[in-house]
Amino acid sequence: MKKTSEIVIIGGGVIGTSTAYYLTKRGKEVVLFEKNDLASGASGACDQDIILQSKNPGIHLQLAMKSAEIYKTLEAELEHPIEYENTGGMILIETEEELEIMRDFVKRQQQVGLEVEILDLKQARELQPGLSRHLVGSTYSPQDAHVNSMELTLGFAKAARKQGARIMLHTEVVGIKQRNGRVQGVVTSRGDVDCEIVINCAGAWAPKIAEMIGLTIPIKPRRGQIIVTEEVAPYVMGDVLSARYIVAKYNPEILENSSDPGIKLGVGLSLSQTQKGNILIGATREFVGYNTDVTRTGLKEILKNATRLVPGLKGMNIIRMFAGLRPYTPDGLPIIGPVEGIEGFFVAAGHEGDGIALSPVTGKIVSDLIVDGKTFIDVSRLALERFAKNNKKA
Ligand SMILES: Cc1cc2nc3c(=O)[nH]c(=O)nc-3n(C[C@H](O)[C@H](O)[C@H](O)COP(=O)(O)OP(=O)(O)OC[C@H]3O[C@@H](n4cnc5c(N)ncnc54)[C@H](O)[C@@H]3O)c2cc1C
Repeated sequence: MKKTSEIVIIGGGVIGTSTAYYLTKRGKEVVLFEKNDLASGASGACDQDIILQSKNPGIHLQLAMKSAEIYKTLEAELEHPIEYENTGGMILIETEEELEIMRDFVKRQQQVGLEVEILDLKQARELQPGLSRHLVGSTYSPQDAHVNSMELTLGFAKAARKQGARIMLHTEVVGIKQRNGRVQGVVTSRGDVDCEIVINCAGAWAPKIAEMIGLTIPIKPRRGQIIVTEEVAPYVMGDVLSARYIVAKYNPEILENSSDPGIKLGVGLSLSQTQKGNILIGATREFVGYNTDVTRTGLKEILKNATRLVPGLKGMNIIRMFAGLRPYTPDGLPIIGPVEGIEGFFVAAGHEGDGIALSPVTGKIVSDLIVDGKTFIDVSRLALERFAKNNKKA
């Protein structure tokens, strides 16, 4: 193994590989370390939605809109089939109370330029005939899209390699070397590498990497269980979420206090169909440490919720189930940028349920910050320092 590199990236998920792609595109020397295989973390155990309308208006939606723009030409740029499709998407509304909340959400999104509207039940059923008649309606945005997250990760890695990146699989970073407040290199299971910059792209494991350099990062693994059906004829149009999904995503405290097992597990509908025809039915949002087991209660509650909203799913066979760990942050925004007080140490992690959608823009921002010292928006709101002025452990 070569003993030096300008930049070391830790983590071979969609964020690490995207960052490797954009940095090598700008001529940087990069080595990426992944302790298992590419996409072996959340990036290979998730849904396929590039959904804009689930994002809070503000910097979150701004990032998603920039990413969506990049996605339009990404497949051609990477020269790899990533199964990108601009499908549109909807958020199902069950009650008048939810309708009021979604009206306000949609209005604020429209104000910043997102194409999104509220549909009544008849209009929603015209787009998605399988919807239950008890629904009040839905939102709809033609800007939502799909991508195969594993192919995307492999595509970023392949293109980064072509541009000179070295990607070291089955190589765990076990330590970070620093001197006088400056990063010096990393210690891996296959030897040391000296470098000027270390980028922590370890998703739900980012806090463990941070600990190696004396930092606390408030990311927690948030398990999501997903069910996969057999291949069926086209049945689901685009990305389908439920308003309860939005509540589960942004308000974990409401879920914990509920006595309903489905709400307690953070179950909110996410539904989409792959190009091959399998339907992905999700998902839970649970804080259970690094446990990636699937559970009987998870299966039961996901299905109960999904078939209540889309009864036609009842006739389909399930072929498997899996779970991944979303890298959750307390304010729902990722952590992107350099860390104050440790020169050369960057974080690009904490994308919770949005890492696939935000991967192109994240890689671009990190490469812009490293090469130009600035990017297309003010990213100070994404800095680690927003959580506490002094993150350094005593
Ligand atoms: C059920 C579920 C559904 C989701 N649906 C969507 C969706 O529809 N749309 C969307 O945009 N997002 C979705 N997400 C979120 C998305 O999957 C994540 O935000 C994204 O995959 C995070 O990517 P990452 O590269 O940061 O982390 P990961 O993919 O987890 O990658 C981190 C990598 O770091 C490696 N690593 C850790 N420690 C070390 C070490 N010491 N040395 C070397 N390597 C190390 C790990 O092995 C891992 O491969 C979903 C997530 C889940 C769980």
